[in-house]
Amino acid sequence: MEHSNEVYYSIREIIERHPSCLFGVADISYSDYYSQYKCALVIAVAHKKIMTKDNYIEEELEELICEARKECDEIISNVAVFCRKNNIDYHIPPMVQKSEKSLIAPFSYKFAAVNAGLGWIGKNDLLITEKYGPRVRLSAILIDFDLPTGKPIKHSKCDDNCIYCVEACPYNYIRGVCWDINKYRDELIDYHSCNAKRSLFLKKHGRKNACGLCMVSCPSGHTTWKI
Ligand code: SF4
Ligand code: SF4
Repeated sequence: MEHSNEVYYSIREIIERHPSCLFGVADISYSDYYSQYKCALVIAVAHKKIMTKDNYIEEELEELICEARKECDEIISNVAVFCRKNNIDYHIPPMVQKSEKSLIAPFSYKFAAVNAGLGWIGKNDLLITEKYGPRVRLSAILIDFDLPTGKPIKHSKCDDNCIYCVEACPYNYIRGVCWDINKYRDELIDYHSCNAKRSLFLKKHGRKNACGLCMVSCPSGHTTWKI
């Protein structure tokens, strides 16, 4: 199978078996990986339920995140099997940060998602999709094949006056700044302090605190939610 459309439709068919999964393809010419891979397929799997500040339970949010992560892994692994069968090189970049100091992953799923046109980055530094708001789990696979790429989203669609996420953070880590594609993470949020605070959970619970109050307080996506 070599025709670009055939490959694209086969991959799309794999993803569309999962109705709550959004996907897009990013031009990754901005990335060091571009010397080896032509594009990134980015997926966003919605949580199975809308959690808000009113029904927030940390353990339940953690479960929703884990469930969505499992589904992401399954989809990406099925796309990888397809690539292998068709002799297409691929790489699944790890989500984990390469350094505990910089807390920067080798390939940002979030930045690839905005480049694929899946959404924008909210004042809370999360990807915000039109359909599900920030209640999605992201994953990506780099593919050495030319697939039709999406139109990057370069500006925030957060309402200028919206401060739900800013007010939801108990530690005031969110600065209330509207994102655009040239903004750095630290201009939006004190990510290091957020990470440190959530890591305090590790000793007692064996995992970070999901927290996510800045996620569950976001009104985006509520009206179009359908799983
Ligand atoms: S995850 Fe929690 S601590 Fe971190 S920015 Fe969001 S609300 Fe604040
Ligand atoms: S709560 Fe408002 S400002 Fe914060 S990410 Fe959601 S829409 Fe944007």
